[in-house]
Amino acid sequence: MSGDRQAWDAVIVGGGPAGLALATLLRPHRRVLVLERRDNPPASPPIGESLPGAAAVLLQRLGVLATFRDAGHRERGAAVSVWDIDCPVWRDAIVDPAGPGWYLDRRAFEQMLQQQALDVGVTLRQGSPVSNVAHRRGEWQLETPLGEVRAPVLVDATGRRGSLARQLGLSRHDGPPLLCLYGFLERPPESRDNTMRVQADAHGWWYTVPLPGGRRVLACHLDLDDPLHHRLRHPEAFLATARQHALLAEALQGADAPERIRGRPAGTSLLDVAQLPRAGPGFLAVGDALLAFDPLASQGLFHALASAASAARAIESGLHRSLGAYQQEMQAVAQRYLQHLRASYQGPKRFSREPFWQRRCMAPAGRRVS
Ligand SMILES: Cc1cc2nc3c(=O)[nH]c(=O)nc-3n(C[C@H](O)[C@H](O)[C@H](O)COP(=O)(O)OP(=O)(O)OC[C@H]3O[C@@H](n4cnc5c(N)ncnc54)[C@H](O)[C@@H]3O)c2cc1C
Repeated sequence: MSGDRQAWDAVIVGGGPAGLALATLLRPHRRVLVLERRDNPPASPPIGESLPGAAAVLLQRLGVLATFRDAGHRERGAAVSVWDIDCPVWRDAIVDPAGPGWYLDRRAFEQMLQQQALDVGVTLRQGSPVSNVAHRRGEWQLETPLGEVRAPVLVDATGRRGSLARQLGLSRHDGPPLLCLYGFLERPPESRDNTMRVQADAHGWWYTVPLPGGRRVLACHLDLDDPLHHRLRHPEAFLATARQHALLAEALQGADAPERIRGRPAGTSLLDVAQLPRAGPGFLAVGDALLAFDPLASQGLFHALASAASAARAIESGLHRSLGAYQQEMQAVAQRYLQHLRASYQGPKRFSREPFWQRRCMAPAGRRVS
């Protein structure tokens, strides 16, 4: 870069888990700039997410496994679901050969990734939205509040909207619009329940997990156009509806209604990976910006870290040579995911005539949007 303060080896747009992981992995060899739109963490608390045990290898590669283990994330317990059949089926976390995994303190998780990126020398600029992106004279040029920045490699890590790829004209395939409504409950001190509970019903599905710090998240997933969502926005109605299911009622015993019910779009949204080269040379996407999974898969954060590791390998070995391999790998991930997702939604046959289930059995990612 030799004195030119605005020329970088790689610019990553989006400072979430995927962008920060990729920046950390690239940094030992390259000058890396991460541009994050937000100034501060979002005001609304992040939904409690879980991470499978297999992620330990990826955390090790990022050099954060020891810090992660000390950060108070909660070890996952058994998963118990009322899904294919109308009675609970248990799956003990101990049967996972990679270990049980964790219920995350998501904010602490992201702070840890950010600190590691800074420690290895990544430059992170917060409050830096990007406008006017173009590939000219062999490099990417971006307008930012810092002025123009340039790099031969540009990465979209902007999350499920994939806003950079959209700006560059790439389209996405979206599944049926899925709304996640969720709220946080204080766990009564006597509660020992450590299970993840998943319950299918005619309108969609629920889950609840205990989080670090004495809280529990309760979430309901239903069609965006299902009028039930108006009623479920009321905390009392939300909790009462969940309690109609014995599986959830057991875990929610003694809990007061959440203070507030929040909503987030949560359906499948996949970039058309085959189109990546059309954006221009040296362009990649990682994490949700590439493949945003339905929360039923519980794979989003694992994919954020895994796609960052694959993207780092592709960039290290020269994108002109290795983009094809990256595309193939990500296409295989998307295909496997879509097959599993469809099979999962085909499970509860007792609801097969309900619009929510019909839509997902027919076309998990059929709608193309740009
Ligand atoms: C309801 C729900 C439940 C979930 N549960 C789980 C779970 O149990 N387990 C799991 O592993 N995953 C889960 N996920 C998925 C998980 O949250 C995501 O997969 C993960 O956050 C993806 O990380 P990311 O870095 O790709 O994107 P994000 O975390 O979305 O980060 C993107 C970053 O880019 C920034 N940004 C956006 N646009 C711009 C721009 N134009 N310029 C600069 N910066 C920008 C954003 O501010 C943000 O910081 C769930 C998701 C939902 C919606």
